[in-house]
Amino acid sequence: MPAAEGPVEFDLPVGGGFIGAGAMGDSPWDAFPEEEAIQIEGEPGSDPALAFRRTLGMFATGVTVITTEAEGQVHGMTANAFMSVSLRPPLIVISVDKRAKMHRLLSEGSHYAVNVLASDQEHLSDRFAGRQAEDAEPVRFDTVRDTPVVHGALATLVARVVRSAWGGDHSLFIGQVEYARYGEGEPLLFHGGRYEHMLAASPVFSALSTELLEPLLASGAERSYAAGEHVVRQGEPGDELFVVLEGEADIIRSDRKVSERMAGQFFGEIAVLDGRSRSADVVARTDLRCLAIPREVLREALAAEPAAAWAMLGVLAGHLRED
Ligand code: FAD
Repeated sequence: MPAAEGPVEFDLPVGGGFIGAGAMGDSPWDAFPEEEAIQIEGEPGSDPALAFRRTLGMFATGVTVITTEAEGQVHGMTANAFMSVSLRPPLIVISVDKRAKMHRLLSEGSHYAVNVLASDQEHLSDRFAGRQAEDAEPVRFDTVRDTPVVHGALATLVARVVRSAWGGDHSLFIGQVEYARYGEGEPLLFHGGRYEHMLAASPVFSALSTELLEPLLASGAERSYAAGEHVVRQGEPGDELFVVLEGEADIIRSDRKVSERMAGQFFGEIAVLDGRSRSADVVARTDLRCLAIPREVLREALAAEPAAAWAMLGVLAGHLRED
């Protein structure tokens, strides 16, 4: 296939030689394919461009905010086109629309941060996609390696642009990672053009009003655990709902703490309903007192309180809708 002429803005001298391809021009990245019609199998008569976007949208991703600083100004942009490239050397890549302001701010040697958003940070995604009023609450940034990072993000990577590549109407900015950290929690997801949440982390019982909850919890039994003791283990049958009465517990999945529970908080909300096994260990971090309510007891309590059952269906429907 003949190579089309590359856009001049990507004629960046690249140092380091980490890709092993030598200077710009020797790399297969520099061969630009000519535009061709693609075969789209969608609904008859549907707009091919839309069908292409919908096809891409079937790939579920997380959501990030890319941040950088230029001329003393902090700039952020929402992006889901982020990917890990290599572990050694540590490389990542982002794809940025040529029309975006972010595109003008990134160049070889500049730094960007990838801030992975947590499930309750939809407002930050909207904010940095220009979907929220400019006068919304100010966003808090920290600084790492002279680069602004979003305070409270689930995970953060700071990278130095070591190479950029033509990507049609986008550009790919490959970054060598200089800093990485991760926290606890569940990620915000993006699929089919809308935000999604991991259902395992969604509240069901805990979303009910106190009035509806009290009769459900009344028949629970109190249990105590010493610090370090397992309350439940991953893979066990999830046949009880728990409410923390006193102390703190860690939620651990695949040897990694992903969340925690404190007094008044619930766990096991989904497993007690769907009857499947526990998706995580729960370990007492301090001495812990919990209320445990077996599934059978909950079922009887819900049969006696149809208003609570109906309210729970409303909560579940809300999780499925998420618009
Ligand atoms: P602007 O549009 O000027 O800024 C973006 C918004 O961020 C503005 O509202 C601005 O006020 C606000 N903002 C910027 N800096 C600050 C600050 N310091 N403090 C407070 N607010 C600030 N585009 C891509 O190119 N690649 C992608 O991978 C991509 N993925 C996306 C994924 C999702 C889920 C969404 C919703 C959008 C995505 N976009 C992506 C689109 C992109 O986020 C928008 O087009 C965005 O507006 C482009 O930003 P910009 O750099 O042009 O800056």
